[in-house]
Amino acid sequence: MTESLSIVALSGGVGGARFLRGLLAWAAASGTDLDVTVIANTGDDMRLHGLQVCPDLDTVMYTLGGAIHEDQGWGRADERFTVAEELRPYGVGWEWFTLGDRDLATHLARTSLLAGGATLSEATARLAARWDLPVTLLPMSDQPVETHVELASGETVHFEEWWVRTRASAPARRFVQAGADQARPAPGVLEAIAGADMVLLPPSNPVVSVGTILGVPGLADALRASPAPLVGVSPIIGGAAVRGMAEACLATLGVPATAAAVALDYRSRHGVLDGWLVDDADAASVPELEAAGFAAVARPLWMTDLDATAAIAGAAVDLARRLR
Ligand code: GDP
Ligand code: CA
Repeated sequence: MTESLSIVALSGGVGGARFLRGLLAWAAASGTDLDVTVIANTGDDMRLHGLQVCPDLDTVMYTLGGAIHEDQGWGRADERFTVAEELRPYGVGWEWFTLGDRDLATHLARTSLLAGGATLSEATARLAARWDLPVTLLPMSDQPVETHVELASGETVHFEEWWVRTRASAPARRFVQAGADQARPAPGVLEAIAGADMVLLPPSNPVVSVGTILGVPGLADALRASPAPLVGVSPIIGGAAVRGMAEACLATLGVPATAAAVALDYRSRHGVLDGWLVDDADAASVPELEAAGFAAVARPLWMTDLDATAAIAGAAVDLARRLR
């Protein structure tokens, strides 16, 4: 008999999107019927050239829609940059943040839908419809939340400026989720959590992707209230972020960049997490995690190709099944 599972995943951009593609491939190969709701981080959103840009929503949309730039992991495949070339001589915008023409069309469409009165979740549904996504893609909130970084210098910058321009090298004092106290989970978020058989945390950045989602008032409460097991995949392997600079984010919170410390932090900061996948390189932390009350499994966690990623997602589902 075909098994049916309702899954909620809390996703950032590249790490989350790759994992989700693996999850769908695993479902197809194992004949499992999945109903997946993706709750995406919108803390990286920003206004650029008057346009509303939502990097994590778009990375998930392009990846699952088959339009992602594969090598980069974000942005559109077969992109062109006519608009950026024409903007440069005007000296307008951020030279460290280029938007391609195809990508700009997404931001134009989103901004015009928002200007016409649509909420972000309504606009997201409209954009996603074009790509015929095999998941329901929801922003974490319809209210704007922006991650700002308070630098050691005293200056405060948008997260993307810190991340992309300084490559997370400017010493950061703390993150501020501007607007978070006024935010509510987007329509469909609490319903999806309430109806989920399991909740998965892809190996997204635990601080500025998953942590920001969990910071939306009411969202972590709903996860705690749900009987669905919550299983995560470590974004840290052997003491370092696999791709990207998550260590700098963890350091700002005083959390060591280890697979075990990230799991413990999910529990102490947000009161969530039942199961945790760590890489074989971190197998020594399994007893410590089990002693802390987690179900923990060590296995390869490098999302090197679709097969490897599908196997990781399948292992996360298996661990969650054991916990149901
Ligand atoms: P972003 O919003 O584009 O930065 O993407 P996410 O927050 O979704 O994911 C970024 C995280 O994915 C990084 O912090 C990495 O540690 C993690 N990551 C990327 N590739 C891999 C991989 O192959 N395996 C694992 N376990 N983690 C990965
Ligand atoms: Ca992001």
